[in-house]
Formats: sequence, C-alpha cells, structure tokens
Amino acid sequence: MPSMPRPASHPHEPAGSTRRAEPAAHAPLATLAELEAAIVACRACPRLVEWRERAAREKVARFRDWTYWGRPVPGFGDPGARLVVLGLAPAAHGGNRTGRVFTGDRSGDVLFAAMHRAGLSSQPTSIAADDGLRLHGAWVAAAVRCAPPANRPLPAERDRCLPFLVRELQLLPDAHVLVALGAFGWDAALRALGALGHATRPRPRFGHGAEARVGPWTVVGCYHPSQQNTFTGRLTPGMLDDVLVRACELAGLRVASTAAARVAAGRRVPGPASGEAAERRAPGPASGEAAERRAPGPASGDEAERHAPGPATGR
Ligand code: SF4
Repeated sequence: MPSMPRPASHPHEPAGSTRRAEPAAHAPLATLAELEAAIVACRACPRLVEWRERAAREKVARFRDWTYWGRPVPGFGDPGARLVVLGLAPAAHGGNRTGRVFTGDRSGDVLFAAMHRAGLSSQPTSIAADDGLRLHGAWVAAAVRCAPPANRPLPAERDRCLPFLVRELQLLPDAHVLVALGAFGWDAALRALGALGHATRPRPRFGHGAEARVGPWTVVGCYHPSQQNTFTGRLTPGMLDDVLVRACELAGLRVASTAAARVAAGRRVPGPASGEAAERRAPGPASGEAAERRAPGPASGDEAERHAPGPATGR
C-alpha cells in the first residue's frame, strides 16, 4: 500500500500563524488525516513553537532559499504499516525545514538508505516532502513533533505530545512492531504503549538490538542514526540493517534481498547486554536527529546542500 497522501484539509497557514489548536490530549481524531491536521496545527508548547518558528525565520546559510515548514512534523508512511520507526524530534533545519520527518538531514539519509535496503521505502533518499518517497509496510514518526532547542524536549513537552503518538499507534491497526531509535524513542514507545494499557514490569532497558514484548507489540531498540553515532561508528549501516531485518521478521514482512543477504553473511544483531554497554560508552547526551547539528566534520552542510533541490516552498 502506498504512503498516505497529504489530506486535502491540511492546514497551510504560514508558520507564525496565531491560530491555536486544541491540546493534543483533547483532539477528537478519528483518522490519520485528522491526526495529521491536528498535529501540524498544534501550538501547545510555547517554548517549542518559538524555537521552531525562529529557526524557520533565521534559517541557515545553505538553506536560505528555502521556505521552511516551521510547524510540527507529523508521521508519514503506509497506513497499512506493520512496523513503526520512532525517532526523537525533527531537526531544526531538517524536518522543520522540509515538513517531513527525517527528511533533509543526514539522519534521514542513513535511515532511509537502510529502509530502502530492507524493502521498506521506495528510494534510498529523503530530501523533500514532494520527492516521491513512499514507504511499504512501515510508518515513521517522532516522539516530539516540534524541533526542540539543543535536541532536548522538556519532560512536560514530551508528555504533552505523547497523545499524538498514542493515537497514531491506535490508527495503525496492522502495526505491532516498533523500532525505537535511541533511548528517548525507546522511552516514548514504552510510555505510549503504557497509555494503551500495555505496561511492562520491570521496565525493559534500551540497547541496540534489545527486544521487549509489550502487550501485542514488540519494541526493538536501535541506536539513533544521528551524525554523532554514524560518524563515530557507534552505529554502522550493517547494524541498522540487522535491526531492520529483525523488525521485518517480527512484523511478518518480506525483507529485501540486499539487507537480508548482508545479515545472512554473518553479522549478528547484538544482544541487550552489549548494546547497553555501548550505550554507556557512547559520548554525548543525545541521540536525536538534531544531534547532527553538533556533530563535527565538514560533510554535514555540504552533503545536505547537494541534496537540497534549490528554492522550494517547504512542501
Ligand atoms: S511538541 Fe507536540 S504538543 Fe508540543 S507544540 Fe509541538 S506538536 Fe504540539
């Protein structure tokens, strides 16, 4: 089934509109289209609204010709998804610019290349909301829908946004596997499933390759594909392949031969113990999309610049 198109009712008032939305927990949302409309109109977190809109106004030099999205970024993918990939939050100059999660930043480059190898996406790149990318059997979302300063949502902001994820999971009736990117995604996944009545005791610990059965769901941990993790080799393409192949198996999805062949060639998904050890060794506090902003090295801006299709209208 192809990815869900943008709904006709999608609000298009410019970033900075004074329109106010119902708080996440109060929105009566019967369909994915209604959920998306509610998410993109949300202004419930003043700090994040100010940040996302300031980033959209001030931009960065390499994207000065873009009209930034500057609003909350909804999930997207296949409404018949059997697995959900959950990240932290949009990057200020990635999803907050393009209007699609994991789109227009290096984290998305890594993630969608891996999803393409696994047969979950129609193309290995994700550069703009109108680039033709379609997901197959998968849905991608962020736990917090607005770009946070320093990649650190406050607990209150996390909690305020959680009902959107809870409702999203309810509206994906075929999904029962959740790939949680980073410890924040893992925590959000467990919180959302807890809100759906699937609490776990004791609380399973995050690790790369860790698996937790939570009610009818299986949550699979994966290091976040931030530049911080991929540049340091903490997360390699092979490690991401391992997790996605395992997630596809759990979801009953046929795995594309490229990723399956790599896993069959001898790599193993590391168990929870090794993953946790690596987690403790890893430098830096964050594993989110926006962590790439802090990552050293010359490639981030240049690479993104090459991917940018020139002047754009945000969506
Ligand atoms: S983070 Fe979530 S709840 Fe807060 S303003 Fe953004 S969409 Fe609304």
